[in-house]
Amino acid sequence: MPVTIAIVGAGPSGFYAAEALVKSAVDCRVDIVERLPAPYGLIRYGVAPDHEKTKGVTRAFERTARNEAVGYYGNVELGRDVSLDELRGLYDAVVIATGAPLDRPLGIPGAEKIGVHGAAAFVGWYNGHPDFRDLEPDLNADSVAVIGNGNVALDVARILAKTPEELATSDLPDYAAEALRRAPIAELHLLGRRGPVEAKWTNVELREMGRLADCLPEVDPAQLPETVSDGFSERDRRLREKNLATLRGFLDLAAGARRKRLHFTFYAKPLEVLGGPRVEGLRLERTRLEAGRAVGTGETFDLSCGLVFSSIGYRAEPIGGLPCDAASGILTNRDGRVAEGLYVVGWAKRGPIGVIASNKPDGAKVARQIAKDFGPGRKPGGPALEALLDERGVRWIGFADWKAIEAAEIAAAPPGAPRKKLIGIDDMLAVLASA
Ligand SMILES: Cc1cc2nc3c(=O)[nH]c(=O)nc-3n(C[C@H](O)[C@H](O)[C@H](O)COP(=O)(O)OP(=O)(O)OC[C@H]3O[C@@H](n4cnc5c(N)ncnc54)[C@H](O)[C@@H]3O)c2cc1C
Repeated sequence: MPVTIAIVGAGPSGFYAAEALVKSAVDCRVDIVERLPAPYGLIRYGVAPDHEKTKGVTRAFERTARNEAVGYYGNVELGRDVSLDELRGLYDAVVIATGAPLDRPLGIPGAEKIGVHGAAAFVGWYNGHPDFRDLEPDLNADSVAVIGNGNVALDVARILAKTPEELATSDLPDYAAEALRRAPIAELHLLGRRGPVEAKWTNVELREMGRLADCLPEVDPAQLPETVSDGFSERDRRLREKNLATLRGFLDLAAGARRKRLHFTFYAKPLEVLGGPRVEGLRLERTRLEAGRAVGTGETFDLSCGLVFSSIGYRAEPIGGLPCDAASGILTNRDGRVAEGLYVVGWAKRGPIGVIASNKPDGAKVARQIAKDFGPGRKPGGPALEALLDERGVRWIGFADWKAIEAAEIAAAPPGAPRKKLIGIDDMLAVLASA
């Protein structure tokens, strides 16, 4: 009998694991269980809507999904429709690939004020994630603070900075396009506790900020070090030098007719969100670097802003009763092993680090671990899961169903856009009812 394996989560790490398993020497049957009808996790709901090219990797995942040893159970949530114990009873091995979907809390006084949003929620909203459709952030502010110096913070700032014309060929939902169009934002502040050298941006994303139609990046030259200090690998040093050069290049840009400003502010640590029930500003403390760490200097300053987006990292969700390390925000594991026959991959295993392809080695590793741990399979897998779901009246969908939903989205796309996303789960399922 083939080894039966359930992978929970259809994001990159789930698909890389499925691909590695079906290509491995293990005679296996793999089922991917995904809580949403749509597969691809953060590729669909995290990667910025104006970065369509990045989403091309889903073509490889689609080939994996079409492999006859792979099944897809969309709209099935672990913990709601099926428990972890049940899944472990039905499959020889279970691989958790549920990502790190929660915002790391800002944890400063005033963080609960109206107008403070975590990046996970805001990005989910502008990407049409059904969980965040109702966030409806009030974007009526002329000054905005984005806290964090990673690519996600750049994504948030760029989406707020772009013109409707620049976003017209993206898959931004209509409600988000309309809210962004009406937003009077003129000043964007990108805030980092450490310096430009320590920022975690990739250079391609940073360079894009200099090419925006209506927004000029502004940097204080006094905050740009001459060189990258020691303590980085050769590769990291080169990347950081490139970023410094890009920031220096911003100093030479002419404003032209550009109306908005994106201020890069470094060495600034948020202390408190100011205002009444709504955000009116941020109090920050100037920092200096000591052995790569930001240390407060005691000098504070206030920034006036009506919105705060906090992009300081993601953490995993406690799932299926599994222990989750609160400090690191990952599911407790030893090199991907959680318990006998239970494994974890991707952001749930390592935390929110790296790009899509960074999840690939986890897939190869779990395939090796499963090859080592199992002889022939013993448990029934897919047919038994289907029977359980059907008995419970769970409306699960297969990969062909997802392709029908995707076709409807593509058919409805406005000119130049790749798709018009269906947002609500009911709207997605309605496509199948009418097929
Ligand atoms: C805002 C943002 C933008 C990014 N942009 C880029 C980019 O441009 N380029 C790039 O290379 N990388 C980008 N990344 C990084 C990349 O998205 C991640 O490396 C990758 O998605 C992590 O994969 P994952 O499978 O671990 O998690 P995820 O992609 O989060 O997938 C987890 C999946 O598990 C499902 N799930 C969760 N809980 C359950 C449950 N209980 N039952 C069933 N299913 C469940 C989720 O619905 C989801 O589909 C970005 C990340 C973020 C946050």
